[in-house]
Amino acid sequence: MSNSIISDLKEALGNEKVLTDAAVKERFYHIWKMEEDLEALAVILPVSTEDVSTCMKICHAHNQPVVVHGGLTNLVGSTETNPNEVVISMEKMDKVVEVDDSSRTLTVEAGCILENAQMAAAEKDLLLPLNFGAKGSAQIGGAIATNAGGLRVVKYGMTRNLVLGLEVVLADGTVLSSLKKIIKDNSAYDLKQLFVGSEGSLGIVTKAVMKLVETPKSRNAALVAVNDYHKVVKLLKHIDAGLGGKMSGFELMWNKFYDTMTDEKSVLRPPIASGFPYYVLVESHGGDHLADQETMERLLAEAFDNQWIEDGTIAQNSTDIEWFFKIRENVDEVVTRCTVDQHFDISLPIPLIGEVINQTIGRLKELDGVEHVFPFGHVADGNIHLIVGKSNDSDQLKNEINAIVYAPLQAIGGSVSAEHGIGLHKKAYLNLCRSENEIALMKTIKQSLDPKNILNRGKVLDI
Ligand SMILES: Cc1cc2nc3c(=O)[nH]c(=O)nc-3n(C[C@H](O)[C@H](O)[C@H](O)COP(=O)(O)OP(=O)(O)OC[C@H]3O[C@@H](n4cnc5c(N)ncnc54)[C@H](O)[C@@H]3O)c2cc1C
Repeated sequence: MSNSIISDLKEALGNEKVLTDAAVKERFYHIWKMEEDLEALAVILPVSTEDVSTCMKICHAHNQPVVVHGGLTNLVGSTETNPNEVVISMEKMDKVVEVDDSSRTLTVEAGCILENAQMAAAEKDLLLPLNFGAKGSAQIGGAIATNAGGLRVVKYGMTRNLVLGLEVVLADGTVLSSLKKIIKDNSAYDLKQLFVGSEGSLGIVTKAVMKLVETPKSRNAALVAVNDYHKVVKLLKHIDAGLGGKMSGFELMWNKFYDTMTDEKSVLRPPIASGFPYYVLVESHGGDHLADQETMERLLAEAFDNQWIEDGTIAQNSTDIEWFFKIRENVDEVVTRCTVDQHFDISLPIPLIGEVINQTIGRLKELDGVEHVFPFGHVADGNIHLIVGKSNDSDQLKNEINAIVYAPLQAIGGSVSAEHGIGLHKKAYLNLCRSENEIALMKTIKQSLDPKNILNRGKVLDI
């Protein structure tokens, strides 16, 4: 059977688009696991939607499980494979089709690297607001498949808010194409949204039309120290109200994270002294640099007067802004301090974050084998990341850590995945944030779009 499908794929697509044997082993399933050989029956390298459709028709006929590979930056095991699976890697479908500066849209192939898409928009003085640490490797298709969030969600929304049109290949090879540039379309169900965040389990994204915005003429940022979580919430409301819709980022770092990112082992210097419990990075996108800078200064002065902040500094230029953002974004620095690292991406109601996370840190520290807990995140979105450094990679320790981090979420209406998705690693915890009826409906949708369960089998849901 495996020989017959490979010969069918080679005959239909051409030998050069179907990698097997040693050429498969040279590849990998995650950017952080490049040393591990890829296990797969074949890797398909489509160059067009027609190629993806042809490949899926053949896989469907053979009941062949398929795993889609984008930029391989996901943090939930969703691109892991086994030796019997066919990988479709979108890397050759990487073109920017069009930047339309009047409609303010970007039409792009799914394999386009996010940073390249951002640069294409910037050439026409437009901004693709989607932005996160893995932008140099993650692809637009992967970002859509995971409904990626990132650093500007508070102003521009998640990826789903930016997708205007989508082209998708279904499990049986059917092409569903709606590459419209319009913002409003209430003509019955919004089918594209089914695929956004479906992690390659409902269809393969081949092209997209993304919404762009005018590039903000000014970008300002400040880094401040806060000694109490309740004051972080007060500061958030104060800054958001005062900036009048211009707040584009409000990121929180716990002391342990900030201190490690800026200690003597790190290349990054601390813009303000270490030792405070919390650090907040505020960013604004506006239209008048001087006026926006003055507003930021006034708001911070008011926050000092109200004793909501203890210390702070305002970026004087774009170099300072990049410096502040590197402290928040270059999480590889804390990862290098961990013998083994375990990552979390949870959602919680904003007012409860301080108490819940501090209790969680306390419980984790009591666990044998836990060496570090680094909390940080998009506090304005109620989304906190934790990187837990531990002494070993045993399943027992992993499960104990999971149990502690996820324990409070169900009762407070949180989520085990704010933006990274479910993949393989969080599947067992889906029922903590989705009801039985919700999961049953998800399975009905999966079964109707992929009745043979060939797309990313075993990921997201157990069918
Ligand atoms: C340093 C770092 C920082 C990160 N920061 C953030 C962050 O701030 N916010 C955030 O949301 N995420 C973040 N991530 C996670 C990750 O970058 C995102 O989930 C990203 O959107 C994944 O894109 P990718 O192209 O790498 O997809 P992959 O990892 O290749 O795939 C992810 C999933 O999407 C599927 N898929 C990929 N391409 C397609 C396609 N064309 N059609 C259908 N399915 C497809 C895959 O099968 C898989 O299920 C970060 C990751 C790293 C390593």
